[in-house]
Formats: sequence, C-alpha cells, structure tokens
Amino acid sequence: MQKVTGNVYAETELAGCNPGFVVTSEGVVMIDTPQMPADAIKWRDEIVKHGPVRYIMITEPHGDHFSGIHFFEGTVIAHEGTREAILAADVEQLKERLQQTAPENLPFLEGFSYHPPTITLNDRATIYVGDHTFQLTNHPGHTPYQVAVYIPEEKVVFTSDNIFYETHPFLHQAVPYEWLNSLDRLQELGAEHMVPGHGEVCRPSYIPEMKAAIQDWIDAVSDAISKGLSLEEAQDTISFLDRYPMDARMEAMGPMLQRMNVARLYEVLKK
Ligand SMILES: [Zn+2]
Repeated sequence: MQKVTGNVYAETELAGCNPGFVVTSEGVVMIDTPQMPADAIKWRDEIVKHGPVRYIMITEPHGDHFSGIHFFEGTVIAHEGTREAILAADVEQLKERLQQTAPENLPFLEGFSYHPPTITLNDRATIYVGDHTFQLTNHPGHTPYQVAVYIPEEKVVFTSDNIFYETHPFLHQAVPYEWLNSLDRLQELGAEHMVPGHGEVCRPSYIPEMKAAIQDWIDAVSDAISKGLSLEEAQDTISFLDRYPMDARMEAMGPMLQRMNVARLYEVLKK
C-alpha cells in the first residue's frame, strides 16, 4: 500500500489491477478493487481503519478491476458498458480460473456474486463526497468504456488501463485512435500524480511515452496490412515484448498477448 498524497492510497503490488482509495471527511471512496479474494479481504481490514466505504468507482469492464466488489459495502458506479460486462460475468468461470492459477483463494468464494453498478455514466459524472470531488469521464482507449477518475483536491487521477506504466499494454479490445485522443485529454486535467491500471504510480510526464507505445502498435499493424500480410503473418512477425515486461504474475501470457493485440488492431485498422 502506497500513500500517494495526504488522502490517497494505491496498491501496485497485487496480482490484477492497481486498486486505490481516497479518505474523505465522510468516509472512503474506492477506485477499483483487488482481484484476488484473499487480497480483497486483507484490504477491507485496512480500509476499515479509515472509515466506511461509501462508493466504489470501477474504471473499466475487466474482471481484475471489478471482481473484488463483493467483499465491500458501498454504492458501485461505473460506465454503462462496464455494467453490461459485470452482468455477463460468470462465477463458475472465475472458480475454474482460480482453481488453476490461485486455488488458495477458493475458500473465500463461499456465497460470492458479482455486483453490478447501481449508478452508471456514459460520458461524465461528478460525485461530491465530504470535502472531495470525483470527476468521472469516459476516456475510450483500452476499451470503449474506460473511465478516468480525477480528484482535483489531491491532483490525482486514476487512469484505468489507458496507462500501463512501464508494463506491456493490452490492446485486445482497444479503440486505438480514440486512445491517443483520450491520452491528450488526460494530460489536460492538471493532475500531478497518476495511478495507472498497471505498473507503478507515476507522473503525467509519462503520457507521451504511453502515446508512443500505442502509436508504434498502430504503425506496425498498419504497415503489415499495407504490405498485404494476412492476420497470421502479421501475428508471426509483430512483437513488442522486448519493450516492456508483462505486469506482475502475467509473464506467461506475453506471447499470446502479442497475437491478441495484433488481431484486434488488424480488425480495427483494416476498415
Ligand atoms: Zn483492462
């Protein structure tokens, strides 16, 4: 657990996304949740020391962000597209995956269910809690449904997976050109600290490097398409794995992720 500013905490060491929370004068606001049930329960014990959880803001439609909601109280807020993903999530699949990858978590799944948000947004929303303001804005990129959460009193923005800080980005559901545009809008917020979806807490000065990583992916796949390469040929030749390591505990996924990223961009850019 890392103290980012006076009232903002983030966790970058866990398997899954980087969850965080903000301590306000009227309770705690969580942004995303620990993916692993055992981690979520440890977190809950930590958060109780700071007050009751009032809201849980989920930044995107991937399970490593929303799976932990079950273990917390608090009103859940997310993009409408994230609500759809949570409604479609399957507990049996989660159990199978944990059985294979982290079986020590299974005992905590007694009575587990996925909790969809009761408040959604499509474009933007502002939530006032005690002495803090939470500005939620749809920033399409890693998926169409990404939400950045900016807290002006702390000058901290939770970016969702639109920022992978020095870890390998997932583009398997990306809207690549919108992503570049969203990174420009992220820069304009005036934040001093960014809590990325994956990787260490960083500064907005990292945004140009993130843009370059996305642009290089776009260029590589565009080039393959213009040379007449088939999808399979493009997948066999394009890899950016040497640029950044995979996020913690995801190393084995690296080669498959290259092929998933190429497949997505090939489909989007061919149009
Ligand atoms: Zn994601």
